[in-house]
Amino acid sequence: MLAMSSIEQVCEQVEKARRNSPLAKGAVALLAASKGQPEEKIIEAIGMGITDFGENRVQEAEGKWPPLKERFPHIRLHLIGSLQSNKVKQALELFDVIQTVDRAKLAEAIAHELATAPPRAVPHRFLIQVNIGNEPQKAGVLPEEADHLVDYCRKLHLPVTGLMCIPPHEQPPAPYFALLGEIAKRNGLAELSMGMSEDFETAVRMGATCVRLGRILFGDRT
Ligand SMILES: *Cc1c(COP(=O)(O)O)cnc(C)c1O
Repeated sequence: MLAMSSIEQVCEQVEKARRNSPLAKGAVALLAASKGQPEEKIIEAIGMGITDFGENRVQEAEGKWPPLKERFPHIRLHLIGSLQSNKVKQALELFDVIQTVDRAKLAEAIAHELATAPPRAVPHRFLIQVNIGNEPQKAGVLPEEADHLVDYCRKLHLPVTGLMCIPPHEQPPAPYFALLGEIAKRNGLAELSMGMSEDFETAVRMGATCVRLGRILFGDRT
């Protein structure tokens, strides 16, 4: 069972963080990170009013989401895990938002595919993932190369609307969220996807427009 109270509680925590911060933005989208979650739990979350879901792997999402999207056409599905260039076509068919554009080659592959894809009622949106802590094992463009990638995406006419990051584990996240906010600001990008179960209140205080929550909504993954 998904605890209704957990969703209500998260909303209250988001509201409180928003109220107390000058950096906080007007609205914060609550994205449910549903990797590893079965259909029943997703349907339960939809019933509680969640409209945005994030999946990490194209293949897992392809096995789970087509019937759900048909049944709940208002849902927006976000890709929040790495995307390989050879999966771009499938990803664009299934996902509404790709949050993990992190290299020129991938941006090119997406632009190429979009040029021939059938038109959609609601256009795709794209966020650039920044490896905000410069961690060798993590995906994302390096902070010092982010401006360049944003420019390049714009040249390719990709509708980039924001930035996404996962800060280093076990370090205070606020400085990393602040850095992501600065990069977004100087590039004229409005969306900041940052904050997970452990640190979403800090992220909201630092200006997050989308928090990505897994465990706090669904319980621990098995
Ligand atoms: C799993 C995941 C989340 C949610 O993490 P929790 O700690 O369970 O809230 C958020 N973002 C990404 C990219 C993830 O892979």
